[in-house]
Amino acid sequence: MAGAGILLVEDDEAIASGLVRVFGSQGHPVTRLARGGPAVAAATEDIKLVILDLGLPDIDGIDVCRRLRAARPDLAILILSARDQELDVVAGLDAGADDYLVKPFRLSELLARVRAHLRRAGLAEPEDDREPLRAGALAVDLGARRAWRDGDELELRPKEFDLLALLVGEAGRAVTRERIMREVWDTDWMGSTKTLDTHVLALRHKVGADAITTLRGVGYRLEDGA
Ligand code: CA
Repeated sequence: MAGAGILLVEDDEAIASGLVRVFGSQGHPVTRLARGGPAVAAATEDIKLVILDLGLPDIDGIDVCRRLRAARPDLAILILSARDQELDVVAGLDAGADDYLVKPFRLSELLARVRAHLRRAGLAEPEDDREPLRAGALAVDLGARRAWRDGDELELRPKEFDLLALLVGEAGRAVTRERIMREVWDTDWMGSTKTLDTHVLALRHKVGADAITTLRGVGYRLEDGA
């Protein structure tokens, strides 16, 4: 059975392609728009949840939110925005959003909120059917915080799990050190990333040395076929 349809209104190519991939792997049909104008027309009956950026090239996301809410009172609307002031959040909720997540965000946090909204709408698949993220021999279940290699469960420390989840979610693509520090360690990168190096070393030991490629001066990439 196909999952609930998700409409993603986001002009940032990197964020959008990552989310399309992740939601797709969870069985959700995703409609992605890079502009706000066509959003209401795209919010067809099979769309149950909208993830909405505010800084869009044509219309402000707040207006898009208002229009979506007027057209579809039952729709779950989650704003995903770099605007992080309390007033911005209030404006978003006033415009009819159900939830507001500030960028940069953790993928696990966004997925947890999406699950919660779909569950509230009675649309979430049973927990057992939740599809883990997969890349090559690796599988990661974000909700249960479990990971496997070739079907064997990996024993990971909390940060190792977060790091692996991020890399698997972006499999085949470069993930910068700055982003890893921000999303896994909740900190802006201030030079030393010794902790990160140590964790990558430990993780390679568990998932296979060839699975994670070092991109000198950039970050890391999890190999899709690893
Ligand atoms: Ca934007």
